[in-house]
Amino acid sequence: MRRLFVAGNWKMNTTAAVGSALASALAVEVSKSQPAVDVAVCPPSPYLSTIKAVLGTSPIYLGAQNAYFAAPGAFTGEVGLDMLVDVGCQCVILGHSERRAIFGETDELINKKVAATLQKELGVILCIGELLADRQGNKTEAVLETQLTGGLAGIDAAAMKHIVLAYEPVWAIGTGVTATPQQAQDTHKFIRNWLEKRYNAEVAAATRIQYGGSVTPETAAELLSQPDVDGALVGGASLKADKFIPIIQAAAAVKKSA
Ligand code: PEP
Repeated sequence: MRRLFVAGNWKMNTTAAVGSALASALAVEVSKSQPAVDVAVCPPSPYLSTIKAVLGTSPIYLGAQNAYFAAPGAFTGEVGLDMLVDVGCQCVILGHSERRAIFGETDELINKKVAATLQKELGVILCIGELLADRQGNKTEAVLETQLTGGLAGIDAAAMKHIVLAYEPVWAIGTGVTATPQQAQDTHKFIRNWLEKRYNAEVAAATRIQYGGSVTPETAAELLSQPDVDGALVGGASLKADKFIPIIQAAAAVKKSA
């Protein structure tokens, strides 16, 4: 049975004070209820240390939203993996569609980041997802296949236990349009079948695939109940404790057969 994993991507939002208040509310709730799901928050990099301190001994993981693959050196403006380890991060979001679209990240670059992140023994949340035009043109599977093949090039089956995939249809991110539970399930099933072909049945069965794209407390339960949906990567709704906590609770309440 895969343990559900709910992660909050704060993107370029919050201040130290706002992020601390949010993290504190989440830490209280998650420590109190010890939900049977994994929970992570991914604040902007300047606040990682602050939020780490606020999370304290709570079981909430700390994630970064990006990292550069190279060893420390002359890379002005970048954040290195050693730094993320140093401030207590446990995982890194890589390949988010905003990094791809706004900052021109290619599958090749993302792959270098994935490999370097694993070398530092950090977990990876690797985002993949198609544009609206891809879905309308029946190209979703081809796009995902390209992103998976490129992003996971050279990553072996043993390393896959440190990787979570996040299926995030770009047309659903920040738009208020959520994929239907059936669309999410069908696409997650496609991704799981791809994992079986590329790796083996064990990797396919064990790899967690989060859904991301306008998840809200209202839509979470049905999406997370789909057999191949193993959690959520949440943007906007992760910025408010009264929206993110019900999503965590919805995940904790999901019952799936093995
Ligand atoms: C995201 O940024 O990963 C995301 C899913 O955002 P939202 O939930 O706001 O659509």
